Amino acid sequence: MEARAMTPIHSDREEWDRIKLRLRVELGEDAFTSWFTRVEFESRDGSCVFLSVPTRFLKNWLHSRYRDRLLVLFREAFGPIDQIEFAVRSAMRPVVAPRDVVTPLPTAPTRAAALQTPVVRVVAASTRHDDREEDVLAGSPLDPRYGFDGFVEGRSNSLAFAAARRVADARPGESVGFNPLYIHAAVGLGKTHLLQAVAHAAKAQGRRVLYLTAEHFMYRFVAALMAQSAIAFKEALRGIDLLLIDDMQFLQGRQVQQEFCHTLNSLIDGARQVVVAADRPPADLETLDERVRSRLAGGLLVEIAAPDVDLRRRIVGHRVEVARRASPSLEISAAVIDYVAENVVSSGRDLDGAVNRLVAHNQLTGQDISVEMAELALRDLLRTREPRKVKIEDIQRVVSKHFNVSKADLLSARRTRTVVRPRQIAMYLAKALTPRSLPEIGRRFGNRDHTTVLHAVRKIEEMAGADRGFADEIEMLKRLLDG
Ligand code: ADP
Ligand code: MG
Repeated sequence: MEARAMTPIHSDREEWDRIKLRLRVELGEDAFTSWFTRVEFESRDGSCVFLSVPTRFLKNWLHSRYRDRLLVLFREAFGPIDQIEFAVRSAMRPVVAPRDVVTPLPTAPTRAAALQTPVVRVVAASTRHDDREEDVLAGSPLDPRYGFDGFVEGRSNSLAFAAARRVADARPGESVGFNPLYIHAAVGLGKTHLLQAVAHAAKAQGRRVLYLTAEHFMYRFVAALMAQSAIAFKEALRGIDLLLIDDMQFLQGRQVQQEFCHTLNSLIDGARQVVVAADRPPADLETLDERVRSRLAGGLLVEIAAPDVDLRRRIVGHRVEVARRASPSLEISAAVIDYVAENVVSSGRDLDGAVNRLVAHNQLTGQDISVEMAELALRDLLRTREPRKVKIEDIQRVVSKHFNVSKADLLSARRTRTVVRPRQIAMYLAKALTPRSLPEIGRRFGNRDHTTVLHAVRKIEEMAGADRGFADEIEMLKRLLDG
């Protein structure tokens, strides 16, 4: 990789284009368009890459959510990169003007447009006003494959399925007895599929439906604020029959949450249905405003559990059927379906991936799909099914040894610097390497409050961002624990 960086085959900008392509595939069209189309590659200097974005919001957002991923991709492209600097393009402009005027439009299509004079852009804001409203209510894209007929019901999802059906079948204005419906589950277990199935079905009945990922909700709201059409946005939001919010765990920012809370309240009070999906129950959405959390917890909470082997078999069977509609000559025996169902145990997404892989393998090599072939083709899906589990005890042991403080001190109330920093590092590692929630980590570290843990996590991230030596040390500890 370093050799490649020294003898570049592609220019930096070509590499950046490739990186964007990868992100587009990884994140999907939707998230990619929201966050990356307006990022510009500015330059590279030694181990630092300079990017620019049109807004401070986008800068913070990219920094907190995508920095690590970007670092990995930049390292692959350029060798040892350890820093990414995001500049806000308005701040790069030589002329200083009032803040609300210089803030570029969220849809500023090109860099040139972002660099135009403020007056031109304000005019642009008012002429594009109507487009933007349309845009706001268009919602996030729906996948036509995610209908109820493609959703396979089983023991682990039957309650969520029944509740979703109930919401989808309700007539406009009819109360289903629970509001909001809150579905939570680990990744790949069908939340998005189910939410979109509700959206499709309700739309087909002529109900006014808005499906948005929480990221989109935030983004559209911030965009509306900047275009000064926030009131129209709010009004429009309140005029719908059914609001579906996906990936609620990503809703961040105080003002956005307040706005979401108003929307939620007015919709629910107006007997409009709200459905929310997240990767954890409301009580574990630590960064969420208490009022939003309690409102969310006030409806029906259902969890989708991991599918058992019977459901996995039926999901695989269904996928195979769909694949055969496209290529009728495809042969996948019951033995292969069993093999996949028994061995790919993690999620619906991996089951999907497994079937796709078998089909691709078959089409590329002409080889029959046998159990032996499946074993080979799916090797890596099988290997990753048991990720190494890091325990909080291990973290405490490794950290106390590394910094030479006792575990008792780590868990104590002592506030001396020699103890505070290792403790924060250990809490940070617990958040980064285990699925434990902040409150749980707090409990395991001498009954501390979750805000203390959050503070520690942020502090360590900040220090690692500012100090390369420190970042390396954290990285080393991670490797020690993560194997
Ligand atoms: P989540 O949003 O919970 O991460 P998705 O809804 O994106 O999960 O599901 C991941 C993939 O698995 C999708 O392709 C989806 O169609 C499939 N899937 C998950 N559960 C089921 C199910 N019960 N029946 C059919 N397909 C499923
Ligand atoms: Mg999802």
